Amino acid sequence: MRRLLMHSPIAVAFLWIVAYLLLTLLPLFVLLLYPVPSGRGFWTEFSVALGFIGLAMMALQFVLTARINRIESSYGLDILLQFHRYTSLVAFFMVLVHPVILFIAQPETLQLLNFFEAPSRARMAMLATLAFLAMVITTIWRKQLKIPYEPWRASHTILAVLAVGLGFGHAIGVGNYMGLFWKVVLWSGIMLVSLWLIIYVRLIKPLLMTKKPYVVEEVMSQRGDVWTLALRPLGHDGFKFQPGQFAWLTLNINPLSMREHPFSMSSSGDRADRLEFGIKAIGDFTSQIKDVQPGTRAYLDGPYGVFTTERYWDSAGFVLIAGGVGITPIFSILLTASERNDGRPFLLIYAASSWEDITYREELETLKEALDLSIVYVLRKAHDGWEGETGYIDKAVLERHIPRHRGSRHYFVCAAPVIMRAVELALFELEVPVTNVNMEHFDLA
Ligand SMILES: Cc1cc2nc3c(=O)[nH]c(=O)nc-3n(C[C@H](O)[C@H](O)[C@H](O)COP(=O)(O)OP(=O)(O)OC[C@H]3O[C@@H](n4cnc5c(N)ncnc54)[C@H](O)[C@@H]3O)c2cc1C
Repeated sequence: MRRLLMHSPIAVAFLWIVAYLLLTLLPLFVLLLYPVPSGRGFWTEFSVALGFIGLAMMALQFVLTARINRIESSYGLDILLQFHRYTSLVAFFMVLVHPVILFIAQPETLQLLNFFEAPSRARMAMLATLAFLAMVITTIWRKQLKIPYEPWRASHTILAVLAVGLGFGHAIGVGNYMGLFWKVVLWSGIMLVSLWLIIYVRLIKPLLMTKKPYVVEEVMSQRGDVWTLALRPLGHDGFKFQPGQFAWLTLNINPLSMREHPFSMSSSGDRADRLEFGIKAIGDFTSQIKDVQPGTRAYLDGPYGVFTTERYWDSAGFVLIAGGVGITPIFSILLTASERNDGRPFLLIYAASSWEDITYREELETLKEALDLSIVYVLRKAHDGWEGETGYIDKAVLERHIPRHRGSRHYFVCAAPVIMRAVELALFELEVPVTNVNMEHFDLA
């Protein structure tokens, strides 16, 4: 059994899902144990059950977003965050339906909506629902509402703590199912674990990171408005990573500032003594990279991610599809493969704005000498005399270049969201098995 689990990521992922379902439903079953309130109709009980499941699911969101390495390495950040979004919406739906059913089953409870005259347990429920609503709205429409990422992230945490804390306060205040001391202890335990995870991720982990600082060794300009930031571990061994993985980077002295940004390592996975990141200037943090002085302190939380060829040691070869700065994890994959004398075929399909903008162009050409590497550049603005591919990476481009036996390779795609969607669809239409396709999204929220 142990062997099966170690060698089968699918088995591990399945077990995490079972654990998730158990953790969501178990606290509810415990509440149903003796003593339960008697003489209440089915719909009232059903509505209460929805409320409790919604609360347990909300508390579990803290586990999903706590960057627990064992969970993250089973699914990858993308899938985990997607799961977080969907389950939050399901929890929100339950939390909303819970009072609606109650109002229909017992119309007299409608008066609890009068905030100023309602008992505090009802006020807490209203405030928790409002906090939850604000969270949902600011997350789904963050970009349309023009909320910058950092304030959004801080407010998301505060609203989440408020929603869960007030929701729990409401459940205790109503008290129908919390009659026994140990039931309160169990639910309080769940709430405390959630709170602890927040404190751990936002305070303890950054503090631990200060014990393992890095120093900026070099900042180098690359093609395509990308800057390579090279870091050296200071007084420790750094970390090894699987090529394609990423880390959260904090610059300057104060890792408590929460200004941490995720970046894929672009250097070799076997070089823990020098970690490099290729960073494209697109916003306030990334635009400062070019001015960072050698000697500046940096902190890293990582490695994370499952976008790595290492998971497919038995694959016959790889098709790597990059757009712009999406080349960084793929460059690390190629560099590491060349240092390990990997003899398998690699095909790189790489979209860039122009010939001059191809990040790592010279380095990639050099890698061809050490690897069985073919490169197809796709240029949006091709210069006169260019005979290669032009425009965007689409189905026609892919069909011309990917191997005829589609399932014989593993595919890695990292590009702007619009290219990723088009490539994903095209690969599906070209009958590449979905299980062979790995995607890395640089856009988290
Ligand atoms: C797994 C992963 C790997 C990445 N690897 C690279 C890489 O190798 N090279 C590279 O140039 N970029 C990479 N990115 C993208 C990079 O994290 C963002 O471009 C950067 O954080 C933008 O910050 P900003 O303040 O300059 O821009 P802003 O204009 O503030 O933000 C632009 C967008 O970047 C995202 N973003 C901003 N701040 C954060 C944050 N603190 N945490 C998470 N997302 C944020 C948001 O979606 C935001 O809308 C990666 C992202 C992810 C998720």
